[in-house]
Amino acid sequence: MRFAAWIVAWIVAASLAFGVAPARAGDPPVAVAASVAVSGDRTILEFDMSAAVDVRAFYLSDPDRLVLDMPAVRFDLPVATGEPDSVPGGKAKGLVKSFRFGEFARGKSRVVIDLARPARLVSAKPARIAGAAYRLRIALAPVGAARFAALARKQAPEPGAKPAKAAKSDRPVIMLDPGHGGIDSGAVGVAGAVEKDIVLAFAMSVADSLRAGGRFKVEMTRTDDSFVPLDKRVELARAAGAALMISIHADSLPSAQGVAGATIYTAAAKASDKEAARMAARENGADAAGGIVAATGDSAVNGILFDLTRRETATYSRVFSRDLAKRMAGAFRMNANPERSAGFRVLIAPDVPSVLIELGYLSNADDVKKLRDPAWREGAAGAIASAVRDFFAPKGKPKAKADQAAR
Ligand SMILES: [Zn+2]
Repeated sequence: MRFAAWIVAWIVAASLAFGVAPARAGDPPVAVAASVAVSGDRTILEFDMSAAVDVRAFYLSDPDRLVLDMPAVRFDLPVATGEPDSVPGGKAKGLVKSFRFGEFARGKSRVVIDLARPARLVSAKPARIAGAAYRLRIALAPVGAARFAALARKQAPEPGAKPAKAAKSDRPVIMLDPGHGGIDSGAVGVAGAVEKDIVLAFAMSVADSLRAGGRFKVEMTRTDDSFVPLDKRVELARAAGAALMISIHADSLPSAQGVAGATIYTAAAKASDKEAARMAARENGADAAGGIVAATGDSAVNGILFDLTRRETATYSRVFSRDLAKRMAGAFRMNANPERSAGFRVLIAPDVPSVLIELGYLSNADDVKKLRDPAWREGAAGAIASAVRDFFAPKGKPKAKADQAAR
């Protein structure tokens, strides 16, 4: 008894002294600090952690990245820590342009370093620093472009298993798709707003609102902070036999903080306008952010995949987009041109009408305030649920499509 009390006192004292809580058995190690420093031609990225972890590294090109996989780590660091303008100690440093960290798959964490120029990993080793703490020291050195290309040819295996077989349902299945997650934070806005968290909370509200009526079976591509590749999201919708897929995102335009409002996107081979093209390029970059190889380049994707999208499905997507624009106008501030289209990779299921909603701008303080207000969110989510009910109203073709898709 006395011995146990002494152990507890010692652990408390140790954690107070070193700022890193000792890991309890079964808990993942916690990373509490990150820093970047330049030493000669080397750039050193360090993470302070409550336990030592082993790291497996590989390289990706276009854009050039170094990816470090490790067992589950809880990163107790603000998401913005690794953003280009907030690399610890100032702007991008040395070979590190920016870096991201987070859960990549169940029980796996990942750090993705965007390289300012081609570089190789010299070492990535944990060393004991004090008491119960370790410092993971990642050292990079510059290499030529040809050497980097050779390193990048060795690719990492992709995560995730095949989705489950389509579950039969007599009700239309609505697939809600909160964007980003895990290591891919999406846009980072004002007042610490992070897209992956805001869109998950919003999608949960839409799910609640849709489930309340009992008319729909609601599924989600993610219900927690996990990374889900874009193609996997499409696969999940198809495997579930979804009659409708709604991707939920939020934009950020730091150079124009006055820009606000919601926009609805549908898939098109040719972007409706420049803004829509920018948005599709950004959202299609989610896989790159997560440190996986995108299936195809953007231009190829737009042409080839849109041909696969059945004309009929595209028509239903536009019909739903119109219902949605009407309903959302009652609850949201809408963009001046609220219905747009571009080559979004997550909207290309050939048999599932799909739309992507940008809820607003995280670079705009008013939009962030609204998106974080549970009362506003409930009303806004309700407006989207109303549009879904309109789309599956007992009259008209969408009903027929719903029956067919729900089988
Ligand atoms: Zn997004």
